[in-house]
Amino acid sequence: MRFSKAFIPTQKETPADAIIPSHQLMLRAGLMRQLTAGVYMFLPLGQRALLKAMQIVREEMDAIGGQEFLYPALNPESLWIQTGRRDIPNFILSIKERELVLAPTHEEVVAWLAAMHIQSYKDLPQIWYQIQTKFRNEPRPRSGVLRGRQFIMKDSYTLDTSWEGLDKGYDLHAQAYRNIFTRCGLKFFEVGASSGAMGGTGSQEFMIESESGEDAVVRCKKCGYAANLEIATSSIPLAGRLGASKPTAEIHTPNVRTIDELASFLKADHTRLAKSLVYRHNGQPVLILMVGNDQLNESKLSAALAGGEIKAMDAQELKALTGADAGSIGPVGLRRFRIIADKRLESANNLIGGANKNDYHLGNIDMERDVTLDGYFDLRTIEDGEPCPTCSSPLKISNAIELGHIFKLGTKYSESLNVTFLDENGQVKPVVMGSYGIGIERIVACAIEQSRDEKGIIWDKALAPYLVHIIAVNMNNKDIVLASNQVYKALTEASLETLFDDRPNVTAGFKFNDADLLGMPLQIIVGEKGLRNNQVEVKIRSTNERKMVSKEDLVSEVRKLLAS
Ligand code: ATP
Ligand code: MG
Repeated sequence: MRFSKAFIPTQKETPADAIIPSHQLMLRAGLMRQLTAGVYMFLPLGQRALLKAMQIVREEMDAIGGQEFLYPALNPESLWIQTGRRDIPNFILSIKERELVLAPTHEEVVAWLAAMHIQSYKDLPQIWYQIQTKFRNEPRPRSGVLRGRQFIMKDSYTLDTSWEGLDKGYDLHAQAYRNIFTRCGLKFFEVGASSGAMGGTGSQEFMIESESGEDAVVRCKKCGYAANLEIATSSIPLAGRLGASKPTAEIHTPNVRTIDELASFLKADHTRLAKSLVYRHNGQPVLILMVGNDQLNESKLSAALAGGEIKAMDAQELKALTGADAGSIGPVGLRRFRIIADKRLESANNLIGGANKNDYHLGNIDMERDVTLDGYFDLRTIEDGEPCPTCSSPLKISNAIELGHIFKLGTKYSESLNVTFLDENGQVKPVVMGSYGIGIERIVACAIEQSRDEKGIIWDKALAPYLVHIIAVNMNNKDIVLASNQVYKALTEASLETLFDDRPNVTAGFKFNDADLLGMPLQIIVGEKGLRNNQVEVKIRSTNERKMVSKEDLVSEVRKLLAS
């Protein structure tokens, strides 16, 4: 491609609204533009990188026996009502009279198709995939294409006769994902993950570590334990039983509101404090008990309550229900509330909690004796440095970006959409499903997050829009024009994708800066000095190494450098 004819709107200045490096560079290098919040268009260079990512994904999906489909983005709303997913917050943008929705994922559509055509165990297993645009009404789209409201996903679905079959399809995907991210040149790792709105029994995420990430992951260097903070656990000690249980007693605690104020007022250890949090789950009041200053993990809470709508109860509602303010609420004698507690409080005694009376707390609470509990659940967010649940070494929390997510769905969708098959004995059984996603833009943005410097992008050859970038330093010099055209022709004929900066009235310095910003793996600088010896300069973008190469040897040298 000749730069003089190409649409590559590079920018020297960093756009003010772009905070994370990949977002800044994708705008500056002219890979994309934002049309409106969370909605991006890809320009030719960006599209080339996306297509390369898609091709790698496609090849690896085909290699595990995947068959490519293209499902419609517009779905009938009725399908989503049948699976109970119509009203998941921020999930679906609906159109006009609400009878059509823009699909955020395609379990429903796949199940619909499978219900029509899968009849017997002989029709299974199947691996169906597509590479297609998804729509999600992300509340605060930011971070560029890492979180778009419209984005391209490779989504695949396995259909099996059994859970063992599902395990196989799941493992095949895990391996395909490893191959894909390795081929894309990404340094990734895997974590156990929450299934969230998808449902199902097991899930795993593929992550890259990044300051720009919106996910937090927990890892143990020693044993390799790795989990999303949404599900991560630690072996932090339980509050436990401390001596014999004493009778409960009210304690006057004037003006004590927060848990820290309570701890210092009573000179009590946090493990002896039972903090009460009040929510409504599907409208019903729920009281959640946590140890002292432990943080409630919303995604664990959602899992414990098996989904549904969860809202913090506001102060007025609480006062109307109990007569007390939030800082004085406690589990003993509290009516109309379902009470659940974090596992760390299991069987604990001699705890201090709210007395359901302003300015009072209740001492010596015994979880077994005094609290009518609906169960203990893992509800707390672990903190950096806590002991690993498997080997007790200190855990490390870091930010990460999710590249891919694989789920064992089980029979949730086959049951709601009636996807069944006849087994060997003629019995009707639900199809066992799995679902697997990769964000295509995220592959490209993560590659840039991981490989860049202060000058610009440093593409791995796997995703680079072009492999070689020729810079003709002065288009007013006839020799340079002639030689750079020859080099361009030779590389193109050798099927080496080449961008040729032949812009006539652009200074050499400007071209060099653009070449570093665009970040193609190899630069070929055609200048006067080299040409005197029939040579051009080759620069490796990633290492900044330069060498002079004769024009005749150039194609083979470029091939060699790209292979290494
Ligand atoms: P996140 O937790 O980041 O919101 P998710 O868990 O909702 O993502 P999945 O439903 O697992 O995402 O989707 C599969 C893949 O699609 C993700 O791993 C990610 O790579 C990509 N993806 C999801 N949401 C977006 C988005 N808003 N913009 C770009 N890519 C996305
Ligand atoms: Mg996910």
